[in-house]
Amino acid sequence: MTAERTRIVIIGGGPGGYEAALVAAQLGADVTVVERDGAGGACVLTDCVPSKTLIATSVTMATLAGAGSLGVRPGPAAAAVDPGQLYARVKKLARQQSADVAGRLWAEGVRVIAGTGSLDGPHAVAVGRDRLAADVILIAPGAHPRALPDAAPDGERILDWRQIYDLAELPERLIVVGSGVTGAEFASGYQALGSDVTLISSRQRVLPNEDADAAGVVEEVFGRRGMTVLSRSRAAAVKRSADGVVVTLVDGRTVEGSHCLLTVGMTPSTRGAGLEAAGVRLDGRGFVEVDRVSRTSAPGIYAAGDCTGLMMLASVAAMQGRIAMWHALGEAVTPIRLSHVAATIFTDPEIATVGVTQAAVEAGQVDARVVKLPLVTNPRAKMEGVSDGFVKLFARQGTGVVLGGVVVSPRASELILAVSIAVEQHLTVDQMAHTFAVYPSMSGSVTEAARRLMLSAANTD
Ligand SMILES: Cc1cc2nc3c(=O)[nH]c(=O)nc-3n(C[C@H](O)[C@H](O)[C@H](O)COP(=O)(O)OP(=O)(O)OC[C@H]3O[C@@H](n4cnc5c(N)ncnc54)[C@H](O)[C@@H]3O)c2cc1C
Repeated sequence: MTAERTRIVIIGGGPGGYEAALVAAQLGADVTVVERDGAGGACVLTDCVPSKTLIATSVTMATLAGAGSLGVRPGPAAAAVDPGQLYARVKKLARQQSADVAGRLWAEGVRVIAGTGSLDGPHAVAVGRDRLAADVILIAPGAHPRALPDAAPDGERILDWRQIYDLAELPERLIVVGSGVTGAEFASGYQALGSDVTLISSRQRVLPNEDADAAGVVEEVFGRRGMTVLSRSRAAAVKRSADGVVVTLVDGRTVEGSHCLLTVGMTPSTRGAGLEAAGVRLDGRGFVEVDRVSRTSAPGIYAAGDCTGLMMLASVAAMQGRIAMWHALGEAVTPIRLSHVAATIFTDPEIATVGVTQAAVEAGQVDARVVKLPLVTNPRAKMEGVSDGFVKLFARQGTGVVLGGVVVSPRASELILAVSIAVEQHLTVDQMAHTFAVYPSMSGSVTEAARRLMLSAANTD
C-alpha cells in the first residue's frame, strides 16, 4: 500500500480526528473527515475552548478582586460581568477556532463531510445514503456528558456544561454536582464571576484523583472565597422548584439554588456507529479498546481520543490520532506514553502536573525523592500578592533524574513546561538546578526546588 493510494476515512473532527487528518494528508493519503457538528469537534465548540475562554474572564475578575491589596483604590462602581457579552464572546471565539481548523483542513486537501458517519462493515463508512470506501478508518467520535437518571438537563435551570453558554444570565446561586476536573473548573470560574457556588462532592475532598496537596490548596482557596463545598455528599436527584432547583442528596438532605450544573463524567459516543458489527471491541462502558499505536480489534480500523477513555485530554487525543496515521501509513512510530503527559486543571490557582505522582511514590511503585516548595517564599509571588501554591518535584533516588512534578500557581499551565522538558529529556535535578531562571520569577521556584533536591541527596549520601 503506498501513501498516495491510501483512502482514509475519519469519523469525528475533534483533535483526535483533525490532527490525524492533517498528518495523513501531509503523508499523501486521500483523507475524508466525517463530522456532524463542526471542525474542531466538541473540544473546540463546547468543551475545552469555551470553558477556558470563560475562565479567562473569571481570572480577570479574581485579579480585580485582589487588586486592593496591591494598592489599587476601588472605583465608584465595582467591576461586574456582563453575561450577554461574556457568553457571546465565548461562542464567537469557539466558532472562529472551528473555522480556523476547517481552513487548515481545507488547505491541506482534506475533504470534510458534514454528517453522521457509521461503519458499514470493516472497509466503509456510511454517511446518509453515501458510502465511503476506505483502506483505513479512524474512529474519533469523542464522548458526551454523562446524565444522572433523576437529573435530566432542561437547558434552563438544570444544565450540562454544553448548555451553560446559552444562558442569558449568570447563575445567582449555582450548585455544581461533581468535583472532578470539570466540576472544579466551573465552580472556581463561576465563583470568581460573581455566582454564589455550592460544590457537591461525593468524595472526601475535591479533585479526588489529583495530587492531594494540590487539591487541598484549591479546596482551601474555594472555602476562603466563600464557596460551600459539601464533601461526602452524593446527589440523588435534581428537580426544578418554583424559582430554581432543588438537589436531593442520597442521605435525604436538600440543597437549593437558582441553577444546577451537572459534571458527573463522560459517556463515549460509540453507540449506534456500527462498531461492534465491524469487529471493533468495546469495553463494558462502551469505550473502544485500543493498543498503544491506536489499533482496535478490527484490522485497518484505528481509534483515537475520548472514545478510547485512555486519558481524556485534547493533547492525548491528538497524539493518538497522529500515531494511528503514522502506523497505518508505514511511518516509524513510538507507541503512546501516558507517563509523560502534562495536564492542567484550570481552577484559580491552576494545578499543573507531569510524570509520576506522589501516590505512586508513597505506594512504593516509584523510588523517588520529593521536595515541595511553597510559593509564599518566592519573591515574584510576594510582589504579585500570590500566597497560595507550591512547586513539587520528584527525582529518582540515586541518579537524581527528574520523574515528575506538580505546580500550583497562577499560570501553572505555563510553568510546568520546564518540568515536562526535564521529564521527557531525562534531565537530572543537577541539570535543572544549574539552569538560569529569571529573577524575580515564579519559575525561580522550579530551579530552587531542584536545588533543594540536590541538597537532600547530598545529605542522605
Ligand atoms: C469542559 C471541558 C473542558 C476541557 N478542557 C480541556 C483542556 O483544557 N485541555 C485538554 O487537553 N482537554 C480538555 N478537555 C478534554 C478535551 O475536550 C477532550 O479530551 C477532547 O475533546 C477529545 O477529542 P476527541 O477528538 O476525542 O473528541 P471531540 O472533541 O469530542 O470530537 C468528536 C467529534 O465527533 C463528532 N461525532 C461523534 N460521533 C460522530 C459520528 N458518528 N459521525 C460524525 N461525527 C461524529 C462529535 O459531534 C464531535 O464533534 C475538556 C473537556 C471538557 C468536558
